[in-house]
Amino acid sequence: MPVPGLPEDLPLVEGRECGPCDVCCVALVINDPQLQKLPGHRCRHIARSGGCGIYKTRPHTCREFFCGWRVLKWVRPELRPDRSGVLVQLHGEVSRETGEMRMGVMITLLNGASLRAEGLAETVAAAVAADIPVYLSVPGPPGHTSGRARINEALREAVLTRNKPAVLEILRKSRAEGRKGRFVPVALPPRPQA
Ligand code: SF4
Ligand code: SF4
Repeated sequence: MPVPGLPEDLPLVEGRECGPCDVCCVALVINDPQLQKLPGHRCRHIARSGGCGIYKTRPHTCREFFCGWRVLKWVRPELRPDRSGVLVQLHGEVSRETGEMRMGVMITLLNGASLRAEGLAETVAAAVAADIPVYLSVPGPPGHTSGRARINEALREAVLTRNKPAVLEILRKSRAEGRKGRFVPVALPPRPQA
């Protein structure tokens, strides 16, 4: 789904395909005239063999969505979401200085093992070094909100000194902190009209 103020026509990264990944079809909330789904619940249209069972007629929201791994070259190739447990999404942020929307990323660590994903520290460090706003997201229970926090400041020193263990430790602590958050049930509005 397009993020306000962000380019809608980002080219896809060559050589990267969703394959059997269906992370966005589980992790994300979908509020489309054709389909409503809460975060953390599997979409009922996921095919048994993987992929979308209604691919040709899938909702508009699904047609427009690509995760960061599909559109951002600097997201390491190892981070396909189903393999890594790391879901990168484009995430708009209003600049405090200019009031303008600029592109950031939301990095969701879907499980504890995601902290060991190859390429995670490098990807986060690349974003922080390029002054791209980085938010860390920790999913709540299925159907609930997630916890999220901006982590650029916390990571700056570790990134500047190229200290990978320190980057990973800050991510671990931020995730642990996020898991203590208050998660509330997501209430979808009445189904929008097609
Ligand atoms: S999370 Fe990314 S790679 Fe996985 S199915 Fe969605 S768009 Fe494709
Ligand atoms: S309709 Fe298809 S693409 Fe959309 S969430 Fe469901 S399985 Fe995924």
